[in-house]
Amino acid sequence: MAGNYPDGVTGNEYEIAGPDDEWESEHYCEKCEKDTVFSCESFQKQRSGICGECDSDIDLGHTDDDIDWDSVREQQEDLEYFRREQGWD
Ligand SMILES: [Zn+2]
Repeated sequence: MAGNYPDGVTGNEYEIAGPDDEWESEHYCEKCEKDTVFSCESFQKQRSGICGECDSDIDLGHTDDDIDWDSVREQQEDLEYFRREQGWD
């Protein structure tokens, strides 16, 4: 549904939509030179964390890195098979 946002604002901006997900997990902090608990969040599939001890942030990569490409390929093959079976191709 179209909102009442000004031009160029989709409503998906971080300030409006907020992070997709938030959690805490342990990561190695290069500043603290040890494992610390980070406050992590993902926003538009980009994950980052903030060290609970020194407030420095780390990049935790993109959630697409977690994609199981084998199952994606399988789904693709299933779809092709389905299309042939339906006589669409
Ligand atoms: Zn730290």
